[in-house]
Amino acid sequence: MAPRLEIVIVGAGLSGLAAAVQCALSGHSVTVLEGAKELAEIGAGLQLTPNATRLLQKWGIYDNIQGTCEPRTCTVYSYKGTVLAHEDDFNKNCRRKYDNAPFADCHRVDLQRALVDRAEDLGVHVVLGSRVVGIEFPEDHQKETANGIQNGQPSTTSPKPKITLATKQNLTADLIVAADGLWSTCRSILLNRIDAPQPTGDLAYRIVLELDQIPKSNTKLRDMVQQPGMRFWIGPDSHAVAYSMRGGTMLNLVLLVPDDLDEGVAKVEGNLEEMRALFQGWDPVLTSLLTHVPTVSKWKLMHRSPLPSWTHPSSRLVLIGDACHPMLPYLAQGANSSIEDGAVLGALLSPSINPGFKNETDLKAVLALFESLRKKRGERIARMTFEQRRDFHMRDGKEQVERDEVFRAWREGAGGKEGESFPSRWTCPVVQPWLYGYDAFREVEEAVGRV
Ligand SMILES: Cc1cc2nc3c(=O)[nH]c(=O)nc-3n(C[C@H](O)[C@H](O)[C@H](O)COP(=O)(O)OP(=O)(O)OC[C@H]3O[C@@H](n4cnc5c(N)ncnc54)[C@H](O)[C@@H]3O)c2cc1C
Repeated sequence: MAPRLEIVIVGAGLSGLAAAVQCALSGHSVTVLEGAKELAEIGAGLQLTPNATRLLQKWGIYDNIQGTCEPRTCTVYSYKGTVLAHEDDFNKNCRRKYDNAPFADCHRVDLQRALVDRAEDLGVHVVLGSRVVGIEFPEDHQKETANGIQNGQPSTTSPKPKITLATKQNLTADLIVAADGLWSTCRSILLNRIDAPQPTGDLAYRIVLELDQIPKSNTKLRDMVQQPGMRFWIGPDSHAVAYSMRGGTMLNLVLLVPDDLDEGVAKVEGNLEEMRALFQGWDPVLTSLLTHVPTVSKWKLMHRSPLPSWTHPSSRLVLIGDACHPMLPYLAQGANSSIEDGAVLGALLSPSINPGFKNETDLKAVLALFESLRKKRGERIARMTFEQRRDFHMRDGKEQVERDEVFRAWREGAGGKEGESFPSRWTCPVVQPWLYGYDAFREVEEAVGRV
């Protein structure tokens, strides 16, 4: 019989919902508290990579995501439109290399909906309009348990923390999983001080272009939407990425440029003229796409320094996802690695997967193992996103010429010596298998000595 813990997950984003699914599958009673009143269409497109789709497949979710598009090609263009790198059959190659786990592009809300449906089928309560404003860890008890004594009995568990919602309602939990994203309240609670994210120096113009917004006469651009491919244009201090979603009826376009938003401004409606001016002189294919864009939003890209630990000393609270390892979206790994977090945590809480977890008293060891498996990887991916910025945002000059020479050598089959890396980590034979080949369940099984 699985020990049934009362698990409260703060945040119904992708990390929270992934954790909810696996914790429920591991036999626990799970409540997800979401501050928003509805799961709205925040943030448009999302690229899902095999390290996450293998989990979504295992959970029976992948096929229920509406309108996924698997890109047939992956192309990196210079900002002037020259091909620097190109891979045909990108989707097929991914499935072949990564145990049939696809690379897929979707609308974020379609994934969130599929995760919620699966979680609710498993008995998870997703409670909207429930903003967590405080968590209390009973201090007296903490002192007692620090000595290993509670009510005269040796104890290895701390008393349950009390969660307070904005509505003033309270609830308790055996374990709180803080999946409350970049602006995490729980992170500040863990640190016992206000801890705000820091600007990365870049911002994103986020655009969704519908097929109907492109004139029927412009078959070239319409084909780009209808025939899924992934395209990057890389240039001085900036890059752009485009991919299809919703069955080829929408194009997600993100423009990454230096941040000019005021301090403290996270998101505003963007000015179309200003946006187009930033890309003047770039590949006519990209600038022509931009002429059809009706509205755009502008998001400041933020990050955070690594934390000393993701776990509260009581072993009753653990951080996952953007709350503990936010990153630049330059490798599309924020959500994918957050889904990995949820899977690893949930699997470690399954007695049938992890014989080291028998009951609540094992939480400390489980969370320590979780952190040892996940922290290094999450933080390494975050660092890599900054390396990808360096390689994509080179200004014209010596370094850029050398980079393009590496691209050329690889295109002509002269690159790719053992261990050599490639300026686009998306198709780099060293980085890509490390990112996409990761199997969260295998990682857990190896760590608990079952493989
Ligand atoms: C431009 C851009 C493009 C991106 N593209 C990709 C991509 O293609 N692939 C990818 O993998 N990643 C991508 N990312 C990153 C990805 O969006 C995030 O890493 C991911 O959403 C993090 O998931 P999360 O669940 O940790 O946080 P979030 O998705 O932010 O979810 C947190 C949830 O917690 C809720 N919440 C917050 N505070 C509270 C509270 N106090 N009480 C209750 N609920 C609360 C929020 O309402 C929210 O629903 C992109 C990011 C950006 C900015």
